[in-house]
Amino acid sequence: MREQGRTTMEFDNSYAQDLQGLYVPWQGQPWPDPQLVLLNSDLARSLGLDLAFLKSDEGTAMLSGHALPEDARPLAQAYAGHQFGGFSPQLGDGRAILVGEVIDPRGKRWDLHLKGSGRTPFARGGDGRAVLGPVLREYLISEAMAALGVPTTRALAACTTGDRVLRQNGLEPGAVLARVASSHLRVGTFQFFAARGEVEKLRLLLDYTLARHDPDLVGTPDAALGLLERVAERQARLVAQWMGLGFIHGVMNTDNTTISGETIDYGPCAFMDRYDPATVFSSIDHSGRYSYANQPVIAQWNLARLAEALLPLIDPSESRAIARATKVMESMADMYRKAWLDVFARKLALPAPDAELIEALHKLWDGREVDFTSFFRALPAALKGDDAPVLHLFAKTDGVSDWLARWRAQIADPAQAITQIEAVNPLYIPRNHLVEEALQAASFDDDLSLFQTLLARVQEPYTPVLGMERYAAPALKEAPAVVTYCGT
Ligand code: AMP
Ligand code: MG
Repeated sequence: MREQGRTTMEFDNSYAQDLQGLYVPWQGQPWPDPQLVLLNSDLARSLGLDLAFLKSDEGTAMLSGHALPEDARPLAQAYAGHQFGGFSPQLGDGRAILVGEVIDPRGKRWDLHLKGSGRTPFARGGDGRAVLGPVLREYLISEAMAALGVPTTRALAACTTGDRVLRQNGLEPGAVLARVASSHLRVGTFQFFAARGEVEKLRLLLDYTLARHDPDLVGTPDAALGLLERVAERQARLVAQWMGLGFIHGVMNTDNTTISGETIDYGPCAFMDRYDPATVFSSIDHSGRYSYANQPVIAQWNLARLAEALLPLIDPSESRAIARATKVMESMADMYRKAWLDVFARKLALPAPDAELIEALHKLWDGREVDFTSFFRALPAALKGDDAPVLHLFAKTDGVSDWLARWRAQIADPAQAITQIEAVNPLYIPRNHLVEEALQAASFDDDLSLFQTLLARVQEPYTPVLGMERYAAPALKEAPAVVTYCGT
């Protein structure tokens, strides 16, 4: 792969080698006219990939799933999962394949995965396809999350296929997203073997998972319980970061909950504009199961499903296994609370987490139409003696000045606090109205310029750029509410 003049790419295949029964060998679909639309050169370089190859016709063939290197062992992964609370024992990659694993220059292993690469044996009623708008959406939002320091899968490339695919709004350009993840192991991967009572395979999966994500636990006596604890910690911290950004995942099913603690599957996700704990964007989330405020509760519910799957590996006695797993599950609430307080203490540049002050702020926001992202970037003015930019964000301002006074009383060094606030709180996020306009232009007018501008902004989310004020501003109050979709 790194040799001069080579026109292919080599993969490692530990998943294919070690996890029989958890996949079917599978190829991508050949396309009429695969074209590279976007390549994440920075990511490719950090993975030690050959840019010239990725940009070549062979590279495009690989990144679109049109034709994979001959010695690759591509596969569709099997998994189970609770979707909106209901269990499906057999889900799996319905429209995706794992091409293989890449070892980066530091020796770290990454999955290269293609989404939209055609139907697989797990496709059920689906067409196996993805279209350009949602592919660009995942590209944009996952890159924004990476720039914001949130653990996430990354977008390596987006390709079009040269054909059109039927969706809600008619025919749209077919597309494939090439994404990179530290693994695609999910809570649902464990549920797959657990549901079938295949304890020995579950043990193999545990060993594989530990080797990849928690090598220090390999061979330790309480490895299964240890993994449960690590996943609890990673998911607690992840969801706390989402809450600090107003990020709403939208489909926190157990098959979309990673063992690595990376955010995965950017289907119906969106960033909240005006603060409202009940915010939901997904067209199918009628009960608000995956609303902003419910995310920590759901993360704990999902961990309980992982605990159930791991029970036979935690202790041979079921009652003891349950008692031990329950302890970890209960501790997740504290892990989350601590992570959440840390996130908001950092955003507010507090010297230490102050639960009372942080909770008072959430109460102050409630029902007052405050643009969540703008609030934090208005705080520096309040440290320079001007409360007006903060007050302007509130539909009703009673109590706001009092809260600001209490907050200011905790800031010892205003200049340093301003620097921290501007380094931690983004100015540019993928705001829904900006995302929609960029995807419309890309999908229906063949125009990527708005997308490129927005991508550049969210990749450097903290740095103001002159002339780009529109990208930091909330949507007009009368802008239509955004609705998002799964399986697009
Ligand atoms: P998601 O909610 O996007 O994580 O998808 C849930 C399941 O549906 C996964 O097994 C996907 O592979 C599958 N799926 C979603 N969209 C399609 C599609 N268009 N064709 C086939 N399978 C799909
Ligand atoms: Mg999924």
